[in-house]
Amino acid sequence: MDVVEDLKEISKLYLNDVYVLINQQCSGHKAWELILGTFLATLALGWLWQELFLHELSLFQRSKLFFFRVVRSLPVIGRKIQEELDKTKASIAKDLFPLPPGYVYNTHLPDKGMTYEAVFDLAQSKYKSMEKIDWQGGRLSGGVYNCGEGHDKLMAKIYGLFVGDNLLYPDVFPGTRKMEAEVVAMCCDFFHGGPDTCGTMTSGGTESILMACKAYRERAYKQGIKTPEILVACSAHAAFAKAAKYFKMRYTEVPVDPQTKLVNLRALRKKINKNTCMLVASAPSFPYGVIEQVEDIGQLGKRFNIPVHVDACMGGFIIPFAKRAGLDLPSIDFAVEGVTSISADAHKYGLAPKGSSLILYKNSKYRMGQFYVNTDWCGGIYASPAVGGSRSGAIIATCWATMMAVGTDGYMDNAVKVIQTREYIEKHVRDIPGLCVYGKPDVNILSIGSQCFDIYRLGSALTAQGWHMFTVQYPSGVNFAVTKMHTAPGVADIFLKDLRDCTAEIMKDPKAKAEGIAAVYGMAEGLPDRSMVEEFVHGYLEAYYNTTN
Ligand SMILES: *Cc1c(COP(=O)(O)O)cnc(C)c1O
Repeated sequence: MDVVEDLKEISKLYLNDVYVLINQQCSGHKAWELILGTFLATLALGWLWQELFLHELSLFQRSKLFFFRVVRSLPVIGRKIQEELDKTKASIAKDLFPLPPGYVYNTHLPDKGMTYEAVFDLAQSKYKSMEKIDWQGGRLSGGVYNCGEGHDKLMAKIYGLFVGDNLLYPDVFPGTRKMEAEVVAMCCDFFHGGPDTCGTMTSGGTESILMACKAYRERAYKQGIKTPEILVACSAHAAFAKAAKYFKMRYTEVPVDPQTKLVNLRALRKKINKNTCMLVASAPSFPYGVIEQVEDIGQLGKRFNIPVHVDACMGGFIIPFAKRAGLDLPSIDFAVEGVTSISADAHKYGLAPKGSSLILYKNSKYRMGQFYVNTDWCGGIYASPAVGGSRSGAIIATCWATMMAVGTDGYMDNAVKVIQTREYIEKHVRDIPGLCVYGKPDVNILSIGSQCFDIYRLGSALTAQGWHMFTVQYPSGVNFAVTKMHTAPGVADIFLKDLRDCTAEIMKDPKAKAEGIAAVYGMAEGLPDRSMVEEFVHGYLEAYYNTTN
């Protein structure tokens, strides 16, 4: 014990020295100087703390942005970069959405309203006819998941029946209110939700994901977390980064395994911190089509008391039904411990028209954070379940009608056909010299790359053959999402034939440089200054609304 006493004595002496030193330093100052100095120092420390730890961008992300901003503000280089950018932007804008010869933009309201017949004729002859890609015939990867005369006719009739319905006024439109509640309940049921499982419909997968992120942000705020952080694998859909941007949250990505394209669980575990407000597993991931480790991520969530969102936008209407049909796939739903919410797109493999998706929660405690309530608005007490205010009942009705018409047997049939078609295409793609498939796809998507040539050239070659593929980056690839249209007899074989022919042609000169849009993609992927790429893409969005061709 003597040692302890000695140490105490020594530290006392030390403290004494410190006191003496501080007093000496302060002795020449007035009291108000000391108070003001302390106050300013506290402010400065608070500011520094805020900047270092409570900003929604990490210090590294901000340093990178700052560096490139400095480069671009340099007098000569900066101006040159800007000139090049503007030139490229202008040429993108000009070529992106060309009108057929003889077409002009109509930019004025007609002085006198047209007859119904005239409007319909105009829409059919001059607008619908502009479509050049045979998407009904299966030339489109993903995008549209269902069509067919019988179904489309029912959709038009149901839409017509409920065309006036506005679900901002559910008391006026009890029928479509009941339909939405039923759609949510039916989905909770096939996702093995318990009696407390609940949810809402939204306009699409993006809105579903935004809502989950918002709900978890509110939960984190309640726990006193100032900068809630979304922790995802880089394979997560862009909607999570969008949510972070919209809702001022932190967004942290961990890599996926280069071979399997599955989440690197160790990296994920390491990044969990006291700000982490949600974890995500995609089922399957959009870029690679692999079902991520829902069970492991669920366990992590449970251990650290962090909500786990399963993004089943793509697979939500396939995986549960494929399992039911006997296919060997993992559970991705509320049956898995730790899963607290699921997003599923009715307008993808739910086979409904665009504009409907679901966000479901394990219990209403989570959902509460999604709701918006304003008790003080002079327009009245206002409440909305998701982003929208007025909402079309007709869209909800078409979703409900689709689910009733397709039924469990229909979804099982579609799920099995889609997965088998993807397996068939995948098997043959792996046999084409020069091509490879990323990871081990589980469901509907496969992502094709090449070790021999610039894969974006294949994308362009397929475009020239009338196909429309997705492009992925890091690593570069072209991505194919099998839909109901591709399950029709012969469609997969036509695709494989074109794929073989295009690849063989490219393999004659594998080292040739990409041209056109393929070259733009390649260049964009390699640019370290992402703000420049961002400008190009703004050019694309601006071109979308261009009416001056
Ligand atoms: C399609 C998709 C989304 C986004 O859905 P949208 O309907 O396009 O808004 C999100 N996540 C995954 C995995 C998807 O496939």
